[in-house]
Amino acid sequence: MNLADSIRTIPDYPKPGILFRDITTLLGDARAFRRAVDELVQPFAGRRIAKVAGIEARGFILGGAVAHQLSAAFTPVRKKGKLPAETLRQTYALEYGTDEVEIHKDAITPGEAVLVVDDLIATGGTAEAAIQLLRRAGADIVGAAFVIDLPDLGGAARIEKMGVPVQALVQFPGH
Ligand code: AMP
Repeated sequence: MNLADSIRTIPDYPKPGILFRDITTLLGDARAFRRAVDELVQPFAGRRIAKVAGIEARGFILGGAVAHQLSAAFTPVRKKGKLPAETLRQTYALEYGTDEVEIHKDAITPGEAVLVVDDLIATGGTAEAAIQLLRRAGADIVGAAFVIDLPDLGGAARIEKMGVPVQALVQFPGH
């Protein structure tokens, strides 16, 4: 089975020129979903991972399954304004303007080994902000794992420059 074949590509969504990599088709196929989770977990099996941090929203689905497999806890990295208790917030640049991600102030116990999970890394801006935020809370970021990498956009290299090993299961050229 080839994981790339289970990912659907939608041209010009949400904007002209973007090839949207849709993982709902992967999640909708039991064997592909299981394979993706198994492959995301594999490099970390047997390591002490205290928490998986999943990035909203597709990172919640994959990250929850990965956390379960690793017997780790889970913490959500959310878009601003969604978390009910006191938060830490990190601003990051988008193509036009800025956005913000948040975690709960008490989400991380300083020194905890944390694995960051999302469905896709493009420019790496979102993952970078998540890592900065988790590090501010005292996390020891042991890796960042994605189903899809768009290497032409340089995100994986950007995250590795932060001293975080990046793992991706499938690479697609272009945007
Ligand atoms: P970036 O911050 O540029 O690395 O973008 C990563 C975030 O945007 C992830 O949460 C992805 O789910 C989403 N994303 C960016 N580009 C795409 C794409 N071509 N297809 C699907 N999702 C994308």
